[in-house]
Amino acid sequence: MSKLFVHFFFIILSSLIIQGCYPEPKVIEIDFPTTSENKKIKIALIPFSGIDAIYPKLLKTEIEVFYNCKVTIVPEQKLPDFAYYKPRNRYKADSLLKYLKQSLPLEHELILGITNKDVSTKDEIHDDWGVFGLGFLGGPSCVVSDFRLKKSAKNKRHLQERLVKVVLHELGHTLGLPHCTANKKCLMRDAEGTIKSVDEEEKYLCESCKKKLQHK
Ligand SMILES: [Zn+2]
Ligand SMILES: [Zn+2]
Repeated sequence: MSKLFVHFFFIILSSLIIQGCYPEPKVIEIDFPTTSENKKIKIALIPFSGIDAIYPKLLKTEIEVFYNCKVTIVPEQKLPDFAYYKPRNRYKADSLLKYLKQSLPLEHELILGITNKDVSTKDEIHDDWGVFGLGFLGGPSCVVSDFRLKKSAKNKRHLQERLVKVVLHELGHTLGLPHCTANKKCLMRDAEGTIKSVDEEEKYLCESCKKKLQHK
């Protein structure tokens, strides 16, 4: 064996040993969406501090199936202080909608905030009216609280059902759906602040609402 060959052999052997010592290269998973995936509406979900840890994933699944869209869960955040309304120890939903609008991540069309704190808005009669949630008609933001949904909830599952319905309702507004008067069970019916109405609704959109959604 020539000296040169032995030298060459050792170089190959040592490089194999060195390579063998390195950890396996990590497979970087890049989520390349298909063309149809690419066309889907992208919704960012912000969990505000204090919510049940199960909500983000549960809601992501429910929303993606219902609206055939893509939901990104963004890191948990604190509710902004400027939205706090001390006299009633709750948060102004309108201020939260503005805050969420400003927090809309790039390449997302809509943003949804979930909180366990009570939220309120101003309506024709009341200056500060507690609500389940609120959404801008036509987007981009909506917010939902489970604070009032907990009242008289039979169990956790019942509470989650209510939450999902209210979330889908508020997202319906951001997708351009107004309140529905065509069908009592339709998700877009105006609950008028009563939990009974939320319980009566079903997790479905009536034909009239579906048509409106398709024409958007
Ligand atoms: Zn509504
Ligand atoms: Zn409807």
